[in-house]
Amino acid sequence: MRYQLGFPAQVRILLLSIFLNISSLNQIYNHQLSSHLLFITMAKAPTKRIKKNAPPPEGYSKVEPALTKFQARLKIVQSSTSSSTKNKQQALWPIFQINHQISRYVYEMYYKRKVISKDLYDWLLLQPYTNGDLIAKWKKQGYEKLCCVQCIVAKDKNHKNSCVCRVPKSTLIKNEEDPQAVECITCGCKGCASTD
Ligand SMILES: [Zn+2]
Ligand SMILES: [Zn+2]
Repeated sequence: MRYQLGFPAQVRILLLSIFLNISSLNQIYNHQLSSHLLFITMAKAPTKRIKKNAPPPEGYSKVEPALTKFQARLKIVQSSTSSSTKNKQQALWPIFQINHQISRYVYEMYYKRKVISKDLYDWLLLQPYTNGDLIAKWKKQGYEKLCCVQCIVAKDKNHKNSCVCRVPKSTLIKNEEDPQAVECITCGCKGCASTD
C-alpha cells in the first residue's frame, strides 16, 4: 500500500508561493523600517566626537581654576612620594585621594550641579587626571561613595571580595570591630559604604 506523505504537489506549491510572498513583503517592510530607523538615529546621533587632545570645549573656564589647583596639589604629592619613607602603598594614598577628589569634582559639576555641558564632561573624562572608571561606579546603587576601584576588585591580592572600608560602620560596631581602625589598603579610605 502506498501512503502519501504531506500535501499534494499543488497545495505545496500554493503554500510555498504564499510563504514567499509573505517573506518578500516582510523583507520590504523590514527594509523600510530599517532605513526609517537609520534616518532617526542619523538625525539624533552627535556628529562630532570628542578628542582627548582637542582644545577644551566651551565652559572650561568654569572648572579651570579648581582643576589647576588640584593638579598643582597632585604634583606636590607626586614629588614627595618618591622621597617618602612610608611603606610603598601608603606613600601612594595622597595620589589616590586627589584622583578621587578631581573625579568627584567633575562628576558633581555634571551630574549634581549641572553646570558643565556634555561635551565638556566627555572631554574631561578623557583627561589623565579624571578617573572615568570610578565615576562609572558612583552611578550604581551602593557604590555612591566608593573610594577607589581597586577596593571592589574581586580576588585582589589585598582582600578576598571587597575591602574592609566598604563595610558599614554599624556592621563593624556590631561585630565589635573598631571603625576607627578601618583603612583601605589601596587608598587609605576610612569607610565608604553608602549607608555611612
Ligand atoms: Zn573605601
Ligand atoms: Zn580605596
